[in-house]
Amino acid sequence: MARTALVTGGTRGIGAAIAKALKDAGYQVAANYCGNDEKAASFKEETDIPVFKWDVSNEEACAQGVRQVEEELGPIDILVNNAGITRDAMFHKMTGEQWHKVIETNLGSLFNMSRPVWDGMRERGFGRIINISSINGQRGQIGQVNYSASKAGELGFTKALAQEGARKGITVNAITPGYIATEMIKAVPQEVMDKQILPQIPIGRLGEPEEVARIVVFLASDDAGFITGSTLTANGGQYMP
Ligand code: NDP
Repeated sequence: MARTALVTGGTRGIGAAIAKALKDAGYQVAANYCGNDEKAASFKEETDIPVFKWDVSNEEACAQGVRQVEEELGPIDILVNNAGITRDAMFHKMTGEQWHKVIETNLGSLFNMSRPVWDGMRERGFGRIINISSINGQRGQIGQVNYSASKAGELGFTKALAQEGARKGITVNAITPGYIATEMIKAVPQEVMDKQILPQIPIGRLGEPEEVARIVVFLASDDAGFITGSTLTANGGQYMP
């Protein structure tokens, strides 16, 4: 029987590419989202992937959401923690609200989502948790103290949990994308793109969401069973930690 994968923030951007690639690779896939019903409906229509709405920063909502997905599709074998937000501000202007919102959504969600799938993965002796972090969690980024801290926290979470899952057939890995051509990045003016962004990227172009998705498909597979606690960079050579 096909394994089941759940992708948080799976209805648009990188998450949508991941959900589609996992489906194409033969998995049963569920996509979570939070607020954009219209986008979720068109994604479901286009892909036939079921969508589930809850806020990953809410612990109880995540427990309920996981229960619902498991009732409808079966036990979750692969969890992709992709949902993430930014609330950028220079630190001297950053509010507590901006700090907490980003930490709870990007990092708190890793606890909220991984905890309810963990016991089942341990019992079944198989699991894959794949966390979508960021280049900015590795190098830090001006105006993103909250985001950089949350994304660096994801890497610590990954390494610690990987050690706990290792003897139970569960791998836990992180991917750190650089600039990926999502709608947000495509909205950057061409001049800024040509003069400021592209010169930072040795490969000379943005990454595509599908390029991140293909890494996820590999990490989810049996072939990647010896890879755990890893951070895979996908940034066109922009940063080499
Ligand atoms: P998008 O903004 O395009 O999509 C974000 C997705 O996450 C949406 O489906 C959104 O749902 C969902 N989401 C946001 N908040 C919540 C929440 N509280 N609960 C549930 N779902 C939520 O993001 P990207 O595709 O650009 O980014 C995906 C991941 O990749 C993020 O973790 C981001 O930090 C990381 N990343 C992105 C890079 C890039 O260049 N784009 C570079 C490096 C890392 P809804 O549609 O309902 O709002």
